[in-house]
Amino acid sequence: MAIQQTLSIIKPDAVAKNVIGDIIRRFEENGLSVVAARMMHLSAEQAGGFYAVHKERPFYKDLCAFMSSGPVLVMALEGKNAVALNRQLMGATNPKEAEEGTIRADHADSIDANAVHGSDSEENAAIEIAYFFNSLDVNSRS
Ligand code: ADP
Ligand code: MG
Repeated sequence: MAIQQTLSIIKPDAVAKNVIGDIIRRFEENGLSVVAARMMHLSAEQAGGFYAVHKERPFYKDLCAFMSSGPVLVMALEGKNAVALNRQLMGATNPKEAEEGTIRADHADSIDANAVHGSDSEENAAIEIAYFFNSLDVNSRS
């Protein structure tokens, strides 16, 4: 399987719960390495730009408000099959449907406050990493 990079965001709810370390531990123990990291407090506009694909969705405004409600940790992760592996470790969008032992099953409270973001394709991963990081700030570990 190919080495890939993917974008992960530890959302404001999980940062507030002080579980950054637990989430990164899950990534590292499952073969993903942090290759870029940035703690940020996004403006609603910055969150809106990131989630532009969801602009027409009814939850878009609430999503932007939530994502700008407190600091987040934005990371690029690297590893074998990183995009799908990260999604697997995250669990389903709605924590009620998330498989036992996933990040969202353990740390998410609702479909809005669901602890983490992860890119859904390699193509979107490249776009999302470039939204937050300059190429010089991404330090490949492979
Ligand atoms: P994921 O984060 O699992 O890729 P989506 O890309 O579909 O999920 O949606 C982006 C984010 O928007 C979700 O993580 C969640 O926080 C929020 N969201 C998605 N669907 C809903 C919904 N039906 N109601 C409220 N918020 C939602
Ligand atoms: Mg998504």
